[in-house]
Parts: sequence; structure tokens; C-alpha cells
Amino acid sequence: MNVVKGVTEMKALSRGLKREGKTIAFVPTMGALHEGHLTLMAEGKKRADVLVASVFVNPTQFAPHEDFGSYPRTWKADLAKLAAAKADLIWRPDVSAMYPQDFATRISTEGPAVAGLEDRFRPHFFGGVTTVVGKLFIQCRPDLALFGQKDYQQLKVVTRMTADLDLGVKIIGVPIVRERDGLAMSSRNVYLSNEQRALAPALYRALKDAAGRLRNGDHLEAVIADGARAIEDAGFSLDYFEARHAETLSPVGSLKDGPVRLLVAAKIGATRLIDNLGV
Ligand code: AMP
Repeated sequence: MNVVKGVTEMKALSRGLKREGKTIAFVPTMGALHEGHLTLMAEGKKRADVLVASVFVNPTQFAPHEDFGSYPRTWKADLAKLAAAKADLIWRPDVSAMYPQDFATRISTEGPAVAGLEDRFRPHFFGGVTTVVGKLFIQCRPDLALFGQKDYQQLKVVTRMTADLDLGVKIIGVPIVRERDGLAMSSRNVYLSNEQRALAPALYRALKDAAGRLRNGDHLEAVIADGARAIEDAGFSLDYFEARHAETLSPVGSLKDGPVRLLVAAKIGATRLIDNLGV
């Protein structure tokens, strides 16, 4: 397993793989790897000759008040997991290699990136994500890239950006990997105290209850209001709990406007969690 740190080297390696006729699957991560990341990698291994994974905590997607500085960095454990996942190549650039001092470019996104979900609470986020993903794609030249449905709006934004910029990468969405009690796996779950961790599955419970009631024909507005209340009653401070069209992310009034996806973001203490579920 080759750990690469230089942009020139990374580009030469991906060019070489292409020349050999190898297909490349790519999994971008910010490290602190868990089963969710490893599922994306297993899917990538199945679909291409070579698996490239990146580990890069991307500063441009964090606002100054967010957790860039304290984001979990667990490189030694990550390396062991990447070896077990049989990743062929690890792209692990330094911040200074990705963003040299005179760096002055940012991809600007609309469509799913302004749906009024994550963008409402993290207005800097998708510009940072698409800029780094665009760079990563140009550096690694993958045939396909795997993203988790965990970050559902991000998956839609990256899919749109990749098509709009003719990057020629097939984007594959992978279902959410959960803990046994339903909590969606996330690198940020390590922030939770024992007490918060015990409350955290309330998010998934609320999504599941709401999806079940909608399928039973309950009125969407009431179902959403009850779900929001259940999450707040569990001790969360709610950012949003919404029903949206699963593809366009536009608001829906009933299941007839669907396919419908329920999406939630809420803070427990200082930790912000997101989750979503198809109806
Ligand atoms: P991150 O390291 O948090 O930026 O995530 C890297 C990739 O892993 C993204 O495409 C995420 O959507 C995906 N991912 C994170 N958590 C999960 C999960 N629980 N299930 C599936 N994919 C996930």
C-alpha cells in the first residue's frame, strides 16, 4: 500500500494506472475511519481494478467556529484499517499541498446546494466540499467515486457538480451504515458523552417512525411536526427535520410528490449530527 503526499506524484501514478488500462475507484474521506468508510471501500474494490482512498481533513469546508482544529485525527488506526480494506493507494496531501498560500479559487454551487438544508446552517460548506472534491478528482482521475448517503445533500451536490463540470467520474451513493441501535456511524460520534450517546439513536427512531406513519397515509405536516417534537424532547436542539423530494431535494407536500426522503440535523450538546431515510 502506497501512501502518497505530493500532487505531482499522485497525478503521475494515476496517469500510469490509466496507461496500464486499469480502472480506478476512489473514496474520499477525512480519516477517523469507521465501518461506513470501509463499506464504501469494499464497494469500490468490487467495481474497479484499483482502489484509491484519500485522507484529508479539508479546512475550506469548516467555518471558523466549527471543529476543524479538534476534528478527530487517527492516522495510525486509519492506516491499519486501510491496509485491511486492501486499498491500493492512499492519497494523503498536506493542507499546504492542497491549498498553497496564493490559492484563490472556489467552486460555486447552486441547485441541490441551495436546497435550504445543510446550506442554511453551514453556508460555507458545499463550496469547500466541491472545491476539494473537484481537486481530488483531477489529481486521482478516478473512473468512479463512492459517497455515503449519510451525507445525502452532499451526494446530490457532488453528483451535480461532477456532471456540470464534465469531470467524467461516475458517482455511486452507498447506503448508510448504522450502529446496532440505529445511530448512523460518523467520525463525530466520538464527541458524544455516554449520556449523549445513549440519547443519540432518537434521530433514527424519529426518522423511522415518520417514514412508517407516512406510508400508513398520515398527513405529512403532522408527521413532520411530531418527529421534530420527538427529537427536541429527546434533548436535541433541532436544525431541521424535513421531507424532501429524494432527487431534487425540493419540498414535498405528500408522498404523491415523491420519492420522498426525510432529512434531519440536530445538535446534542456541542455535537451536530445528521441523518436521513427514504420513505
Ligand atoms: P467523511 O470522512 O465524514 O468526510 O466521510 C467520507 C465519506 O464516507 C462520505 O462520502 C460520507 O458520506 C461517507 N460516510 C460517512 N459515514 C457514513 C456512514 N455511516 N455510512 C455510509 N457512508 C458514510
